[in-house]
Amino acid sequence: MPTLSRRSLLLASTGTLLITLTPRVRAAKIGADIVSTRIWPANAYTRMTLESTTPIQFKYFQLKNPDRLVIDIQGSATNQVLQELGKKVLPRDPYITSVRIGQFNPETIRIVMDLKTTVNPQVFSLAPVANFKNRLVVDLYPTKSVAIEQEKNDPLMALLQDYSHGKINSDGTSQAQATAPTPPVVNRPDNKTPTPSQNPPSGKPPKLNRQPVIMIDPGHGGEDPGATGPSGLHEKNVVLAIGRLVKKVLDGYGYKTYMTRNEDIFIPLGVRVAKARSLKADVFVSIHADAFTNPSAKGTGVYALNPKGATSAAAKYLAKTQNAADAIGGVIYSGDKNVNNTLFDLTQTATIKDSLKLGKDVLNRLGKINTLHKGSVDQANFAVLKAPDIPSILVETAFISNPGEERLLSSNDFRLKMANSIASGIKDYLSTAVLARR
Ligand SMILES: [Zn+2]
Repeated sequence: MPTLSRRSLLLASTGTLLITLTPRVRAAKIGADIVSTRIWPANAYTRMTLESTTPIQFKYFQLKNPDRLVIDIQGSATNQVLQELGKKVLPRDPYITSVRIGQFNPETIRIVMDLKTTVNPQVFSLAPVANFKNRLVVDLYPTKSVAIEQEKNDPLMALLQDYSHGKINSDGTSQAQATAPTPPVVNRPDNKTPTPSQNPPSGKPPKLNRQPVIMIDPGHGGEDPGATGPSGLHEKNVVLAIGRLVKKVLDGYGYKTYMTRNEDIFIPLGVRVAKARSLKADVFVSIHADAFTNPSAKGTGVYALNPKGATSAAAKYLAKTQNAADAIGGVIYSGDKNVNNTLFDLTQTATIKDSLKLGKDVLNRLGKINTLHKGSVDQANFAVLKAPDIPSILVETAFISNPGEERLLSSNDFRLKMANSIASGIKDYLSTAVLARR
């Protein structure tokens, strides 16, 4: 029998050509039909995603000398889409040399990944969500010793591994952590419960002479594009560009700055928070450019955490869409173990107060460059703002769903203004805040 083209296979699914199919080909049609493939190479980990109209049944194993990862997909035949996968490996990929696809037997596709190094793989499937169909996700992490060696100053790799093994809570605290964190800011004039040892007899709060640490969090990334504008601009790319500019300005102020991601990579929300906590950040700022169903919605907004509810319908809607990032980006564990600890609650109440002050300072600066969505800091239950001990805000730079604001977001001039305003607002806040003792 001649080889069937993809077109005739597609026709076959309508029944018109069934008569020409052998039972063997029909049997193969029962399994996964791969409709899309992607590879996201990054230093922290490389992800390969296969998408199918039906759930993907799989097995995998590793081979040594040379290092390979073999994935067998059950009940399936190769097709054009899958064959293209091999071409998607980039020379700069830190983990993959090449990908080969073959029909191992009539019911099994075999994918062989030739690797540049020994990896620590996580292979898992995800049910359909948002615009995605059934996904098979293959995450290639470095081995733990390599991760530790490579990231002496940046714990991202180790945190990602802890997260993928369910060791990090949704608020970024670790499962092993039993004690409450220290409140970030002490002895502000409006702080009702100063710690006596940190309160000198004069009643004046002591200014701690150390470099403030800022964690900049560009939203989304990799498999999670965030919102997409009418002309196709992706939120994940805009906010990474703005985040890098914010870092540059803050570095110029002499602060110590870090980014939760500096590549087109998906980082779970809990890992972003855990990274900020592990680097003892004094401020966490998450940068977004989201969408609303109504394209006329516009303006800049600043948000803080309210774990118990939302201060407006818009804030509630935004938190819901932001918290969906983990499901869209794809995580093996939700990490959603609730930390219910009164000490944490007390710390968090003080932290939220500081977050609102930080948010107000940033909002004041942003109001000079764009229309504000609202004149005050809105609050909702944002997962990425849950660090119990770090003042955290989410900046909605503009609505990417609004054609006019999408144009602004694509301009370098607006991005720079935005970055300068966010950085100035953080500086304003830090000029009055007293940093925690460490
Ligand atoms: Zn967003």
